[in-house]
Order: sequence, then C-alpha cells, then structure tokens
Amino acid sequence: MGKGLRVTVVDCGPLKLDKGIIMTGASGIVSAPSSVWIIEHPKKGLILFDTGINYNVADPEAAEKHWGPGMREAFGCVMTREDAIDRQLIKLGYKLDDVKYVVLSHMHLDHAGGMCHFPNATFIVQKRELSYAWWPDEWTKIVYCLNDYKDTRGYNFIELDGDIDLFHDGTIKLINTPGHSPGHQAMIVRLENRGLVCLGADTAHLKEAYRNSAPMPYDWSTEAHISSYMKLRTIENAGIPIYLSHDEKDFNEFPKNGEWAD
Ligand SMILES: [Zn+2]
Repeated sequence: MGKGLRVTVVDCGPLKLDKGIIMTGASGIVSAPSSVWIIEHPKKGLILFDTGINYNVADPEAAEKHWGPGMREAFGCVMTREDAIDRQLIKLGYKLDDVKYVVLSHMHLDHAGGMCHFPNATFIVQKRELSYAWWPDEWTKIVYCLNDYKDTRGYNFIELDGDIDLFHDGTIKLINTPGHSPGHQAMIVRLENRGLVCLGADTAHLKEAYRNSAPMPYDWSTEAHISSYMKLRTIENAGIPIYLSHDEKDFNEFPKNGEWAD
C-alpha cells in the first residue's frame, strides 16, 4: 500500500422505490443503492463512511420489529442478509475489528443501520445529528430508527461542530452540509493516484436533485439544504468529482476494489 487512501464502495441496502420518496415532485420507480465507503488509511487503519441498513431489515418479519410495520415495503428495501455491512466486510477479506473509525454522514435508517457491528470503533458524527437522532422533529422522525442506536450509548463518539481535517494529515476532510438532516456531513478524500474525491452522501439523493436544487422529502430544513447544495457547487467548481449515496450511476462508476482505472 502506498501512502494514499484506498476507497471501495459497497451497497448495504439496495432500494427499489418510487422516485418521489427521494426527490420532491418526481415519479416512477428507481433503483437506489445504500452506499457505504470502505477506506483503508495507511496509518489509521480501516474507516467506514456510513454503515447502511440494519441486517434485520433483510428479513421481512424481523424488519417489522426493527423498522416498524410496513416500512420495508414503503421504502422499497430489497436487501438480503449478504448486503449488510458485516457480511460485505468479511467478503472483502476484512475482520469487523479492523474497523477503527466509523464516520456517519447522518443517522437516517439507511445510514446508521450497521452501527451495532462496531462497538469498539470510534464514531465521528456531528454533535447536532447525534442529539437530534435521539429526539427528532415530528416531520422527520419516520427516517430515524431508534433501534439502530438505542444500544450505542456506551460507544466512543467524537462529536463535531462543523468542518474538520479529520486526522490533520490532509487525507480526509469532513464538510458539514446540513439541511437533509441537522448534522449532515460530506467527506473529501485524498487518493494516491486520483487526487481529491468528494463522497457527498445524502447532501443530495440524486445528481438530478442537486442539479435542479430540488428539495427532498423528509428534509429537516429546505433552506439549509439548498445552502448545502451551494457548498457542493464550490467543491464541483474546484474540479473535485462528487459521488452520492443513492445515485445508481455514481455507485456504478465508483471502484469496487479500491483501484481507480487510469
Ligand atoms: Zn439516505
């Protein structure tokens, strides 16, 4: 391994859902991955950006308990047990204990579902997101699942307020992009042969939403969300490519083995 990062993406909860659920005013059925990025840092070990959907949701009966009645169908979740982050890591040859850090873009039910597999990791989350997830507003609480984190009070959290160069070595920068949720954050990674790449997470669900500055259902604040689109534009204008969690094309174009084709 060189001194840069290797980053791989996996789909920890494929969705087949009405486009209107992820982009206001849209219609038709879309396939959307639930992206989790697995990052190998030469000094810090294995880092996850998000954790996908909880393994219980793979089983329709267990999903009723974990997510609540009818939720699996409502969100068009078509995951199998093999899609969950624990199995994905093992399939790639890692052990769960290899994961030293888990960065959460936010704590919606398609991002915080795998927290339970990493009780010994350090979690990096925006302070506002962590407290909000425990007591969300009426209009967003359907997308926060307390079962994802009700047993994590004893976990090790670093609670952030704003942007930071995570390890102060220029490899991972966290950019606070609130709106979709109060403490949403995106990540910019520095890759050995590729330079800077932005993992935008749910700053927008789809590139189409971002291009049109479209609001999204379950947004905590539309105003803050649109401001965060502007933040993405500065990143894009700097020539840094952006990859979103649920955009199928972004997922397909991202390396599955840590290697970028030249
Ligand atoms: Zn999401």
